Amino acid sequence: MIEVKSIIDGEEVKSDQYYYRECPYDTEKTVTKAHVANVEDLKRAIDTARDVFDNNRYNWVSDYKQRDRILFKISEKIREESQTFIELLVNEIGMPLRQARAHVNAAADIFEYYAGFGAKLYGNMKFLPNGDLIQLVKEPVGVVGAITPWNFPLTQSARKIAPALAVGCVVVWKPASYASAISYHLAKVIMGSGIPKGVVNVVFGPGEKIGSELVKDSKVDKISFTGETTTGKGIMQEASKNIKRVSLELGGKNPFILFKDANINQAIKGLMYGMFRNAGQACGATTRLIVEESIASEVEKAVVNAVKKLKIGNPNLEDTDVGPVVSKSQENKVLSYIDIGIKEGYKLLIGGKKVTSTELEKGYFIEPTVFSNVDNKSKIAQEEIFGPVLVIMYFRSEDDAVSIANDVIYGLTASIWTNDYRKALRISRMIKAGSIWINDAYTQPSEGLWGGYKQSGIGRELGLQGIEDFVEVKMLYTNVNDAYTHFKQVYKE
Ligand code: NAD
Repeated sequence: MIEVKSIIDGEEVKSDQYYYRECPYDTEKTVTKAHVANVEDLKRAIDTARDVFDNNRYNWVSDYKQRDRILFKISEKIREESQTFIELLVNEIGMPLRQARAHVNAAADIFEYYAGFGAKLYGNMKFLPNGDLIQLVKEPVGVVGAITPWNFPLTQSARKIAPALAVGCVVVWKPASYASAISYHLAKVIMGSGIPKGVVNVVFGPGEKIGSELVKDSKVDKISFTGETTTGKGIMQEASKNIKRVSLELGGKNPFILFKDANINQAIKGLMYGMFRNAGQACGATTRLIVEESIASEVEKAVVNAVKKLKIGNPNLEDTDVGPVVSKSQENKVLSYIDIGIKEGYKLLIGGKKVTSTELEKGYFIEPTVFSNVDNKSKIAQEEIFGPVLVIMYFRSEDDAVSIANDVIYGLTASIWTNDYRKALRISRMIKAGSIWINDAYTQPSEGLWGGYKQSGIGRELGLQGIEDFVEVKMLYTNVNDAYTHFKQVYKE
């Protein structure tokens, strides 16, 4: 069992309250004992961060070379310690081995991408017609409260921590409890990178207490949150009280649009990856297959065959494709949505039950499930299930496909499959979502972009754009003329 403690001003902090995390594929095993921080601990973390930022301690805010070296070191250390991270991902959240390996690499890539940004971040300048000078400078937003989810715990945190550090911010990080040991290990790697004390402070505790206090605290300049849309709405409301900056990465119910002229074979592989990675517990998962009606029955057969080939099992095994869902409450939630689908009379093509085989009975395993000919107005087509449940809908025309795709409150991703590139471009422009894949699904390079339209969020992560959420832009105006030239409009001497 791994013992996890908050890290404040470089020191580990004990508590007399603990959160125990069970292994999701063998719930008789406890994998983590996390010391739960209290609000005083959190306040100390915020005060520490404030002090580092406001007083430019360790030259953190001014010395971008130091920051760049540290970010690079973090990425190297993540790669060096990948085996430990992989084991933690498998045992704490049940992420299958091959997916965990890719996840660790992706997190290292993000730190590597932002290493060097400090030195390469410039502002802008412009001379006005009268010769006066405008300079636009980018400054770190200040103390950042980073609140992260459990489903992709390393990359979701890296997308916030790396750009925040690159531009000179200081961080108070509240990770999700289900991923305590994974987050703690990342925190230890960050601490071991030569980063000055108090630049990244990590506080473990429940969201409703520690997370919400972090949002409320007026000493925090910005909240960068990833999690459920309902939690995000509460955070936005609270942040409005002192106009705290917020960026929100929220839920999704993403379309996978399949035209009859696509390479169906490839598309089905893309669908399996986009839908069932991490047992469907993915904000960008393509959970709604919208297929051209004339090929629907052929595609449904192919989907069922592909799902049959998915190996559900112990995430520790090399050939496992689908692991458990994360918790009992997540299992109940997913099964209740399946129940709704069945009660509403949609055709269950495959799956639909908890896995009951003896070797998996101690875990939260749910069969990959597919419903066909679902009405887009139904609950299972509209709401984020966050589990291995795919719904299939049919379209007749391009307009029809676009309107079904857009007819949800979310707008995070979309995947479009066709061999007609001009059609793909036309549709891409019509879909309201932050990431659109053409003949691909769920690829998220660190050079790219991530973020939602509509109720999927505000702000963008990754790539060049990922920096903008952590800077303020300031104008410096220099008068190189006689100031009276325009002052005299109201001031006569
Ligand atoms: P969640 O909203 O329950 O929790 C996310 C984080 O917020 C956790 O650290 C939690 O402790 C904290 N939290 C909970 N209540 C809080 C409150 N009142 N104030 C402040 N913090 C609070 O979400 P989750 O179950 O951890 O993650 C799954 C959700 O995250 C899904 O909806 C998924 O779509 C979304 N998600 C979005 C993205 C994205 O990039 N858009 C990525 C991953 C996950």
